[in-house]
Amino acid sequence: MDTPASQPGGPSSAGGSSVPSGSSEGTDDDVRTASGPTLGEVLLAAEELWPESLAEDWDAVGLVVGRSEKTVAKILLAVDPTSAVLDEALEWGADLLITHHPLLLKPVNSVAGFTFKGDVVHRLIEQGCGLLTIHTNGDSAIGGVSDVLADALGLQDVQPLKQASAGLDEEGIGRCGDLAEVTSLGDFAAKVFSILPAVAGGVKVAGDPDGLVRRVAICGGAGDGLFDEVRASGADLYVTADLRHHPASEAREAAANGRPYLIDVSHFGSEWLWLTPAAEALDNVLQDLGYNVDIRVSSINTDPWDFILTPGTE
Ligand SMILES: [Zn+2]
Repeated sequence: MDTPASQPGGPSSAGGSSVPSGSSEGTDDDVRTASGPTLGEVLLAAEELWPESLAEDWDAVGLVVGRSEKTVAKILLAVDPTSAVLDEALEWGADLLITHHPLLLKPVNSVAGFTFKGDVVHRLIEQGCGLLTIHTNGDSAIGGVSDVLADALGLQDVQPLKQASAGLDEEGIGRCGDLAEVTSLGDFAAKVFSILPAVAGGVKVAGDPDGLVRRVAICGGAGDGLFDEVRASGADLYVTADLRHHPASEAREAAANGRPYLIDVSHFGSEWLWLTPAAEALDNVLQDLGYNVDIRVSSINTDPWDFILTPGTE
């Protein structure tokens, strides 16, 4: 990346845009590289990495906009399909925008251009840019959102919190693993803070800062529906996003010796970490097919919050 790994702030390129020198007079392979894969081939590459069969039943993953035969030279990855992200994709000339969150999770009866979502659909089609959603299949897959988070936090012997119903043992939602060394909750919270992009809401912690942590459960994105699995895992700490009052409060009341402690992080931030490894993985698959596609990670921070007041800062 050309910016610090923990901060949105500039596009990172996994594939690079360089065409091998002399490609204009080179072999058929070079010509093929220069023309890029079709969208259909990119979809097959994505399916290899993040099979749609791993998606949760309620989810809506896969291609939202695009034609299979269209050639793809530039791909942008982002967490959210917001207007600002779309501006970035179209200004750069992306042929495909891959987002983690679905634009159209719930069925719609209209994509009229005067609605936010309809406008996104229209602009994508008018400018020839596809949209692909890789959501809970990207969470569940090996090397997916929670695996990247677990790796960044130094967890070992990692297992899913909730195994995928149709997948390998290593696939599923959330992860649980052990730290190489026992760490205080305060120090581990500082580590969590350091690896995530800077967002207004910061990182919230429930528990004794001097309490000791070895076994850690994590779930990228909203994870407060997994407390039964967290307790069953024997975790000393649960790191996730969007912890609502009642599940968090009840988990604290039910805690044994204060555990599991809780760390509540930015939903966007917890998933943003995955984008660069995802771009690299997709680039590797496409390179194996003989294609050199320019793949970048969005520079837009799509965390919805702008500032926060806390005691002493008001
Ligand atoms: Zn999410």
